[in-house]
Amino acid sequence: MEAPSEKKSTLHEFRAFILRGNVVDLAVAVAVGAAFTAVVTSFVAAFITPIIGAFLGKDFQKLAFTINTSKFQYGLFINALVTFLITATVVFFFVVKPLQALVRRLGMSPPEPAPTAECPACLSEIPAAAIRCRYCTSELGVGWSSS
Ligand SMILES: [Zn+2]
Repeated sequence: MEAPSEKKSTLHEFRAFILRGNVVDLAVAVAVGAAFTAVVTSFVAAFITPIIGAFLGKDFQKLAFTINTSKFQYGLFINALVTFLITATVVFFFVVKPLQALVRRLGMSPPEPAPTAECPACLSEIPAAAIRCRYCTSELGVGWSSS
């Protein structure tokens, strides 16, 4: 049994979660992704595997073997595999690569980590530009790491 005030705060949290900006963006991405998957799936089933099947002289949709009374439709699995490969290729070349190029062009690559050096007193790894060790609090002076 939940106390009414607890229930109210959970509802409040849920509302805050739904109204967070990126949930709507995520929902749109999932919906578009699902629609895209349906298009690729039907494209593969309608064109790609029949072309492969035409060369092999087989109908992929009907490829199956039977053990006792269990039917194993591995043709459908091949369809799904080809669909996955095409989806992965499209996502890589039309989403990942352009985004990487955009990030490079805008100079948004993560900053280089500051160079570190060993504190001469306690041998801890600290920023080379530090003038006092954060671990042993030794005064190091300017330019201690370059000598
Ligand atoms: Zn130190």
